[in-house]
Amino acid sequence: MIIAVDGPTASGKGTISKELARHFGLPFMDTGLLYRAVGWTVRQQGGDPDVQADAVKACVFDDNLLDDPVLRSENVGGYASKVSAHPSVRSALDQRQRDFANQSAGAVLDGRDIGTVIAPHADVKLFITATSEARAVRRFEEMKARGEAINFDDILADILRRDERDQNRAAAPLKPAADADLLDTTELTIDAAVQQAIAMVNAKINRRRDKDPA
Ligand code: C5P
Repeated sequence: MIIAVDGPTASGKGTISKELARHFGLPFMDTGLLYRAVGWTVRQQGGDPDVQADAVKACVFDDNLLDDPVLRSENVGGYASKVSAHPSVRSALDQRQRDFANQSAGAVLDGRDIGTVIAPHADVKLFITATSEARAVRRFEEMKARGEAINFDDILADILRRDERDQNRAAAPLKPAADADLLDTTELTIDAAVQQAIAMVNAKINRRRDKDPA
């Protein structure tokens, strides 16, 4: 079974995807980390994330970097959002994601274009959303808990900027696949959102089984 999970920053899709992988016993890939690794590498090389040639050079990185907590920072998220707009960066990372999706064990992948580009044949596609304000509050609380000096308005502005870039880029923009199930987590605790996502996956599997009994 392939489960594709897409959605904007801080929608809850990361936690939901990990919990789906655990619940259904499937390998998990956070595809945002690949773009973050490119964003981090381009800066380490002294390049500009907005310059396609610089970003493409940064697509070759040591896989150990994917485990480095440095990739989780807000700054690196911003670089990732910039490098991910370049079509040649997306195509450099494409095969790795497709291979992961198509492994025989099945997979859960979370990203922006999993249901539309990487695994349009996924058995289940979830699109996780929440209002920008709710997402900014979550990001604010996370950063406050880490002791980072932050300003709510700056976080909200950053989320809106990233949404704008992700939704309006020409290459693989963030949007729900036509056959995706939508889950709005604005009013949900993370536990409730996970339970709802599990129920949605089960419902989708049952619908498919009813339509196409093996
Ligand atoms: O999900 P995460 O916040 O780690 O992703 C960082 C950035 O990488 C996103 O803002 C988005 O621009 C980009 N991304 C993407 N396609 C994916 C995953 C992430 O464009 N499949």
